[in-house]
Amino acid sequence: TSAQIGVTGLAVMGRNLARNFARNGYTVAVHNRTVSRTKALVKEFGHEGDFIAAETAEEFVAALERPRRLVIMVKAGEPTDAVIQEFAPLLEPGDMIIDGGNAHFADTRRRERDLRERGVHFVGTGISGGEEGALHGPSIMPGGSKESYESLGPMLEKISAKAADGAPCVTHCGPDGAGHFVKMVHNGIEYADMQLIGEAYQLLRDVAGYTPAQIADIFRTWNTGRLDSYLIEITAEVLSHVDAATGKPFVDVVVDQAEQKGTGRWTVQIALDLGVPVSGIAEAVFARSLSGHAALREASRGLAGPTASALSESEAAAFADRVEQALYASKIVSYTQGFHEIAAGSEEYGWDIDLGAISAIWRGGCIIRAAFLDRIRAAYGARPDLPSLLSDETFAREIAAAQDDWREVLVAAVRQGVPTPGFAAALAYYDALRAERLPAALTQAQRDFFGAHTYRRVDRDGAFHTLWGGDRNEVSA
Ligand code: NDP
Repeated sequence: TSAQIGVTGLAVMGRNLARNFARNGYTVAVHNRTVSRTKALVKEFGHEGDFIAAETAEEFVAALERPRRLVIMVKAGEPTDAVIQEFAPLLEPGDMIIDGGNAHFADTRRRERDLRERGVHFVGTGISGGEEGALHGPSIMPGGSKESYESLGPMLEKISAKAADGAPCVTHCGPDGAGHFVKMVHNGIEYADMQLIGEAYQLLRDVAGYTPAQIADIFRTWNTGRLDSYLIEITAEVLSHVDAATGKPFVDVVVDQAEQKGTGRWTVQIALDLGVPVSGIAEAVFARSLSGHAALREASRGLAGPTASALSESEAAAFADRVEQALYASKIVSYTQGFHEIAAGSEEYGWDIDLGAISAIWRGGCIIRAAFLDRIRAAYGARPDLPSLLSDETFAREIAAAQDDWREVLVAAVRQGVPTPGFAAALAYYDALRAERLPAALTQAQRDFFGAHTYRRVDRDGAFHTLWGGDRNEVSA
């Protein structure tokens, strides 16, 4: 017999993905650089389905039916190139390499181009949901050729998560690097979501005076409403957890320095290149890096600031409702920014990404899965050319209803000295977009003053320059 799919790289993600394929009835060839991992998988999970264990690259490739479908789940970066170099000479035109690692989309574009010359399809695929998702159904974001998706699509649909309406959480995102680009922005949005939740927690604790256990209950309540999401759900779990060793709230025994692997940073770097304002995602990335500057924070501890004064019980409850509004409004803004970046990437690289389809496949399996995404899908469904999520009537109406509370929460945060960069950046973005006039006019005038960079006028076409150093007459540029 031959295998319909092969997985090489059998650490947590690859192993669980291979098991997922096998549990869905596919014969799966498995391979890993270190053979013991391959043996362990078959020994432990062989009863779950049909596995073909391959010790060498040649055995692995020989085990696959043609055209071959070969999934790479190795450490992103150089290891991916090493594995491609090992397997590519053994493949034939029409075969497919599916890279499920967290690759940078620019690497995916390069690899796709190189392999296309040999007639091999390279399918850069974003996979979200962590190890549990890989096993029980992830959200899958494949790029690559249309042709490869015809062959792979049905299999990916089978192993993917299913949204509440039963739709598989996988779609062909677009050619070459589109899938990894979409996955990158997914992770950026995930950073922003987590930061906003963190700020809500801190406000409930420092301004409202709630304990972590009480805040867990508040999050549980929120999770029954429009904020219903995986991240809110696990936040409640974490906040109600008590450390066994000390009896303290678990969150209080964890060092307050957040790490990052890089996809959030990429989202911001690429947004800078594309000129897309993803201020909320950027603040989330910066908040993590600030948290990690232990020495700097230690040296700054004595700086002056207000001391928080706790609210009364009824005030606290009212404040919690306001925080919910602020969190929801800020979340709309983060997604607005993230989808803007996908639209800009799609335009820049000619990917023709369907934003509604992307929001649909994030409804299940992935870390940012949420009821909210169904509403984004509906917004793009009603108007595929929506200039921005904020232009959707429903979202605009919800923000309008939330904005007073959103502002009040920020006033309280500023008064009491609670850092809320995510909420603040989101509100600034909202206010800037809706502003009649921006101080950008002044900026442009300054640029003309010191650098003769010219400006346009509101009342006439053309470019102009004022002779600032001379008689201050205006000349056409
Ligand atoms: P790791 O990222 O820890 O990678 C370990 C695997 O890579 C092992 O199978 C290892 O083989 C192999 N490997 C490393 N270097 C080489 C090399 N030079 N040649 C051949 N094989 C090599 O594994 P994960 O399972 O955590 O992640 C796999 C991929 O999935 C990564 O790209 C990751 O970013 C991505 N991902 C991970 C998620 C997660 O939650 N962990 C979520 C979504 C995506 P060996 O056993 O021989 O050392």
